[in-house]
Amino acid sequence: MYTYIYKHLILFTLITFISCSKKEPEPFTFIQLCDTQLGMGGYEHDIKTFKQAVKQINELNPDFVIICGDLVNNASDSTYTDFNLIKSQFKMDCYCAPGNHDVGNVPTEESLNYYRKIIGEDYYSFENKGYSFVITNSQLWKEDIKGESKKHDDWFKKTIKSINTKEQPIFVAGHYPLFLENYDEVDQYFNLPLEKRLELLNLFEQNNIVAYISGHAHMPIINNYKNIKLVSGEATSKNLDSLPSDLGFRRWQVSRDTIIQSFISLTPPLNESP
Ligand SMILES: [Zn+2]
Repeated sequence: MYTYIYKHLILFTLITFISCSKKEPEPFTFIQLCDTQLGMGGYEHDIKTFKQAVKQINELNPDFVIICGDLVNNASDSTYTDFNLIKSQFKMDCYCAPGNHDVGNVPTEESLNYYRKIIGEDYYSFENKGYSFVITNSQLWKEDIKGESKKHDDWFKKTIKSINTKEQPIFVAGHYPLFLENYDEVDQYFNLPLEKRLELLNLFEQNNIVAYISGHAHMPIINNYKNIKLVSGEATSKNLDSLPSDLGFRRWQVSRDTIIQSFISLTPPLNESP
């Protein structure tokens, strides 16, 4: 009798263990690349540094790459052709968010349609190993664009709320940092307007957002808001801090219990021909 119970107890434990371990999300890494902005640090220079970033990232072999906007300095057929050509060299998926240099400081129907035609969707979501990634068009948060901003807002709220019901942690990516030093700082060129910023922070807090990643600042800006990581990374084109920081990108290592990110510098010499 005891042997019978004992055998079944072992079997039950084993089944529980196998089914639990199956559900455990696999650890993974992804890369946050910011402001490739071809033409900002010198056109040929930025081509070289973007190519170098692609080369190093392919060697690191992350699950995917997210470029947090300002893909080029001046959006045109020729700059986007160069951008898309270099981007096509990634051996893994590369997801782009639009920046102010891509769709304009005040986006228009024309600038948005051009981006959507040449680069692709400007906001969307995808999943990876138990996490959700929501790519936003933060220019539509920075400026209130008739017929576009409300649509983007509605989509964003609906998307994160529907993911939250699945209890899946969410990364959000955009171009603008929410803030630079304090969550309630005054509005300026590098942050999002206070009212929108507070609304977003509140939404993030309520909907299982673990991190918001961005670019635009051309320097590292690393903050926390109630355990939400807010990280703007270094550019590959040109950094604007006084040091200035090295050019490079950020690697995120995600496991069930920890999410850590670190800077990886571009490796000189950058002597490939464009
Ligand atoms: Zn920008």
